[in-house]
Amino acid sequence: MLKPKASELNSSAAPGTAPVAPRIIPRSEHSISRSGISANALRVLYRLREGGFQAFLVGGCVRDLLLGLEPKDFDVATDALPEEVRRLFRNCRLVGRRFRLAHVFFGRETIEVATFRAASAPSQAEEPIPDADPEEGEGPEIDEPLEPELLEAAGGSADGTADDAERAVDETGRILRDNVYGSIDEDVWRRDFTANALYYNIADFSVWDYVGGAEDIASRTLRLIGDPETRYREDPVRLLRAVRFEAKLGFRLDPGTAGPIASLGELLAGVPSARLFEETLKLFLYGHGARSFETLRRRGLLASLLPTVEAYLAAHPESVVEKLLVRGLENTDARVLGGKPVTPTFLFALLLYGPIAQAIEAAPPQHWHELATILEACDRAVRAAQAQIAIPRRFALGVREMFSLQPRLEHPRGRRALRALEHPRFRAAYDLLLLRAELGLAPRATAEWWSRIQQVPAPERAQMADALGGPAEPKEGMRRGPRRRRRRRSKSNPA
Ligand code: ATP
Ligand code: MG
Repeated sequence: MLKPKASELNSSAAPGTAPVAPRIIPRSEHSISRSGISANALRVLYRLREGGFQAFLVGGCVRDLLLGLEPKDFDVATDALPEEVRRLFRNCRLVGRRFRLAHVFFGRETIEVATFRAASAPSQAEEPIPDADPEEGEGPEIDEPLEPELLEAAGGSADGTADDAERAVDETGRILRDNVYGSIDEDVWRRDFTANALYYNIADFSVWDYVGGAEDIASRTLRLIGDPETRYREDPVRLLRAVRFEAKLGFRLDPGTAGPIASLGELLAGVPSARLFEETLKLFLYGHGARSFETLRRRGLLASLLPTVEAYLAAHPESVVEKLLVRGLENTDARVLGGKPVTPTFLFALLLYGPIAQAIEAAPPQHWHELATILEACDRAVRAAQAQIAIPRRFALGVREMFSLQPRLEHPRGRRALRALEHPRFRAAYDLLLLRAELGLAPRATAEWWSRIQQVPAPERAQMADALGGPAEPKEGMRRGPRRRRRRRSKSNPA
């Protein structure tokens, strides 16, 4: 039996959009070579093609390949329906509700295969969050997996099966109730920026360009497809994506694309907080966090994403907290680029440092070092951030632990100090201590002591701890005087 293809189900262009022929750039006129494409993505493309379907690489991977960058992930677009994709790949599962996507798994790499989206299809905003577990995906190694309930909250299906009952499909997999799958010339108008709307055709290695994306990439311009304000209103996450691509790629924003950003920031309030959590990680944990931070502030979006953070920074221009935050983001970028793991816990400790310090300082000074004060300050700052961003509980708990370890690290007491080394958050807390010491917010000698003790063998560790002189007698040079009489209290306080 002849299988209906998505392009046959729905062959008209977007409403109000006259069908446009793509500019087809032959292999000889572009720089994308198959050697730059993941072997697994190539497998998927070839298998689809052998199955009689169209198969294109699309989106950020095509953009990055043209720029000579290594793509973060490879997305495939096809006229095969999701059920048809599933039949071609054993290692595949379908996710999503009205619009289904196929995830094809190869060990740690997942190739996302999307059927061309029709003009009437739900937008990307309603799609599941791509990676159930970023440990399995490409990109930076994040040392804590995301929770399945986050995916559900963002409109995704954690196991890809929850919504089968809602859907009516015929035996070929064609969706009877929805008309969500279309052709490539409809799909292209649903994409965000021209640079993200190029298709690499595995049939002849040409690049299809409907929107002038190749020229925009060549001139390093980021331009929304269509009317910018309409496109931002359709999906306000595009505001953050514009900032992210500006920061990550160093592209110039087209004036029409840049213009509405600051005035539309408040639309982010209507975006599901689970999606904003994902976008926050993409802004800050992929090697360009410091630039994302600068760009977010310059474009006026930090005020919408993290209002308390922006308020703190605006009230304390060029503060030491801002320096700490930027330096911490730079360190995180360096870790990502060096292939080291990074964690949302440390990121949120950095971002929320100002609001946490402010909450601590709102208490009478004699309570600043008390655990209850520190924990209450962390909870307050996290709660405020959670109005926008769904910070999963274990990262929120991690932030509390990092801050509550600070006084213990600043005042190591005899062998009890060694126990801090075993604490699951020791590493993150120590990194924070180092940053604070660099900026004069914690004693340098103590930070160095902790650096040293991690390098020496166990017996020497005990000696170092004993040399502190027992619980009441820190070693000379580390002694900071009885706490109640310490004058420069703010030094050992987070801010
Ligand atoms: P990255 O390098 O971060 O992966 P990307 O452009 O590939 O960048 P993805 O989130 O992986 O971003 O999305 C893949 C493609 O899907 C985009 O290039 C774009 O064509 C389309 N897309 C993603 N999100 C949206 C959106 N919110 N609105 C319109 N199109 C989108
Ligand atoms: Mg991508």
